[in-house]
Amino acid sequence: MLMNLELPGDDHPIRQQIRTWLKDHENYTNEDLALGGWVAPHWPKPWGHDLSPIDQLVAEDEMKRQGIRKPSNQIGIGWAGPTIMTAGTTEQKDRYLFKLLSAEEIWCQLFSEPDAGSDLASLRTSAVLDGDYFIINGQKIWTSFGHVANFGILLARTNNNVPKHQGISYFICPMDTPGITVTPIIDMSGNHSFNQVFFDNVAIPKENLVGELNNGWSLAKVTLQNERVSLSTGGALWGLGPTAEDLIDLIKMAYLSGSSSVRSALLRDRIAKVYIEGQILKWLTLRQVTSAIKGAQPGPESSVRKAIGDEHGQTLFELAKDLSGTLGMLADAGPIKNADKVESFTAGWHYGYAFSRALTIGGGTSEVQRNIIAERFFNLPKEPDLSK
Ligand SMILES: Cc1cc2nc3c(=O)[nH]c(=O)nc-3n(C[C@H](O)[C@H](O)[C@H](O)COP(=O)(O)OP(=O)(O)OC[C@H]3O[C@@H](n4cnc5c(N)ncnc54)[C@H](O)[C@@H]3O)c2cc1C
Repeated sequence: MLMNLELPGDDHPIRQQIRTWLKDHENYTNEDLALGGWVAPHWPKPWGHDLSPIDQLVAEDEMKRQGIRKPSNQIGIGWAGPTIMTAGTTEQKDRYLFKLLSAEEIWCQLFSEPDAGSDLASLRTSAVLDGDYFIINGQKIWTSFGHVANFGILLARTNNNVPKHQGISYFICPMDTPGITVTPIIDMSGNHSFNQVFFDNVAIPKENLVGELNNGWSLAKVTLQNERVSLSTGGALWGLGPTAEDLIDLIKMAYLSGSSSVRSALLRDRIAKVYIEGQILKWLTLRQVTSAIKGAQPGPESSVRKAIGDEHGQTLFELAKDLSGTLGMLADAGPIKNADKVESFTAGWHYGYAFSRALTIGGGTSEVQRNIIAERFFNLPKEPDLSK
């Protein structure tokens, strides 16, 4: 089994290539990184270096070592880009891919609606072809980055007279098109990260259709599988934030600050469980990498990682709070406050605790992941579609 992830050392050609590139680009910009192919090095040329998954790991490791900071455009780079690469026209690839890689243009995802979340295919936002434009009417919700995005990947209904999965199309939506209204939703962490988006006779050029008319559902699945992979790696907050290993620092802080809870046998039992879970999740990630090395597309195994990882995230942050004893009831006090500076996670344990409630909902709820696991791994019967 390909599970030995002892990464190749200093003389590996990818490491050397990155160091040489860095010498030539000491004051690199996001655009330099995108044009150099280092934002998504596994993408095909000219956007990436067509790296194998293992070389990609080496590249990521070397960039981390060199302190290279990549542009941030989660939905653009993680989900819109791969879908446009799979099904976009040459013009669409030329127009959008470099600018999303460099984060010059930020993207959002216009999928969920008030009555279409888990059952996304029930979406009702409509797109009607009128001359050279599709006219969009409807409403989207929970649109992360909608207030800052230049473009959105939009799912809309283009045929009402066929089974629901067969009448959906996939569009690129410029967010400054007249008729689009974005209103904020403030989440329980106090942040404005998502929005409602209203479409009132919004005219989108017909060349913004991605793939074939009415074939949007199969592209949505490409996007969602990439979303589940990217939401299920690394730290406990969808790839960001601390891991169970960072909890060790917190335990030390709690101990030093005299928190009595750290001595509780019950809490120590929970610490051990969370730590073990964290190790299991690491192995599941390696299994995903192994299957990617064999050339497999992201599949239902990403649902396993997501279902376990999201609940693990909530347990981890609950434990962090409990370790602080009574001070944990406050937003910014106790050992949690002092241990805030986990690498790559400056938002803090308290923010993580509040945000972690969203983990088991966004990107497909835990119940939905379990349905996928039941059907795809255990061949259990599909649940009845009551909406027909
Ligand atoms: C932080 C965050 C960011 C998000 N960002 C975006 C974004 O950028 N773009 C976007 O389009 N959407 C986004 N979403 C929306 C997200 O994809 C939906 O919230 C999610 O798909 C669930 O849909 P829903 O909220 O309508 O819940 P519902 O589908 O109404 O579910 C309600 C409850 O019923 C359960 N349930 C539903 N169907 C089943 C079933 N078949 N079997 C068992 N249980 C079921 C669910 O598990 C859940 O507990 C985001 C959500 C969060 C939390």
